[in-house]
Amino acid sequence: MTYTCPYGGRCGGCSLLGVEYSRQLEDKRRALAALLGGAVEPEAVVPAENPLHYRSRLNAAFTLARGRLTAGTYAAHSHRVVETPDCLIESEDCLETLSAVLAALRGFRLRPYDEDRGTGLLRHIQIRCGANTGEIMAVLVTAQGVLPAAKALAAAVRKNAPRVTTLIHNVNPRRTSMVLGGESRALFGPGYIHERIGGLTFRLSPGAFMQVNPEQTEKLYSIVRARSALREGDALLDAYCGVGTIGLYLAGDAGSVTGVELNRAAVRDARENARDNGIANARFVCADATEHLERAAASGGRGPDVIVLDPPRSGATQRFLNAAAALRPRSICYVSCNPETLARDLAALRRLGYKCSSVTPVDMFPMTEHLECVAALERI
Ligand code: SAH
Repeated sequence: MTYTCPYGGRCGGCSLLGVEYSRQLEDKRRALAALLGGAVEPEAVVPAENPLHYRSRLNAAFTLARGRLTAGTYAAHSHRVVETPDCLIESEDCLETLSAVLAALRGFRLRPYDEDRGTGLLRHIQIRCGANTGEIMAVLVTAQGVLPAAKALAAAVRKNAPRVTTLIHNVNPRRTSMVLGGESRALFGPGYIHERIGGLTFRLSPGAFMQVNPEQTEKLYSIVRARSALREGDALLDAYCGVGTIGLYLAGDAGSVTGVELNRAAVRDARENARDNGIANARFVCADATEHLERAAASGGRGPDVIVLDPPRSGATQRFLNAAAALRPRSICYVSCNPETLARDLAALRRLGYKCSSVTPVDMFPMTEHLECVAALERI
């Protein structure tokens, strides 16, 4: 079975809707194998049971369509906004929430932000759903600090979108393609939501990373558990740890966990998440992962037995990899959302004395070209 995008693919998000799902998986595996260049043969891609409506996070830019306030995604290679209320990969909860919040906002005279002129107020709306908790966050991003009639607006959203558990006002005055600015305050609710993965509950603040496909995340983390092969008493380093998901998921298998993460809000969430889940052997450091590893390597103390890393699309830095190898962990488990930088970094780690024994791809992003992988490496 194949699918047709109701918007003719104008948003540029899902290039594979017209390709049979089993074929998508084979194509992704083949492309990954080519990138790895025979260094290791990747396993079959772990498929998604539900390849549609899986995304638990939605970003939309505000605009006016025939004089009416609305929000949508940017068309491919442009900043023209396309409304996609029946998107095939966003979750029904995200889509329903977007439409309900927009209906509430239309009762107020708020102008969308104009990127070229730098005028107007409303920039983006972000919806995040805790698929396994039912909690929903809506974040309104404005260009200026003052949101007129904020109280009445919050009341209108509560009434129109009763499933939203927290509404947040975020200010982003900068000329940037980043959606969120640094400053957030709750208009109602606690200012964060929770998601439940693998028996643990994770608090998520605006700007803190969480995988967008909850069903596949569970599988991803169980693969990380199997591949990292922790032994009793091991010291685990979870680099690029976000809200602490992987480290906390593995904390019961390890003696101690240290998570390193640059985003301050995510580190705060990670510490709360350890407490909320009754995990006492995990600590979290707010730092650049490379600098943290270099400091650890220079200190000459006991290094980690196992390093898990889960960097952004750009991959790890060469300095990170050098420091990781200098710490001489028994194994390294590399979680990657970009096969190209994964292939580059596996080659670098090979030169540093770490051999890749398996690469397990997981289809976190059906209908799109993206692919997540777990690579296991051992010290030669
Ligand atoms: N492991 C987590 C998050 C992975 S996403 C999970 O599974 O949910 C990558 C994370 O790396 C993000 O949280 C991002 O804020 C963080 N990050 C980006 N650059 C970083 C750096 N230089 N040092 C440390 N963390 C960084």
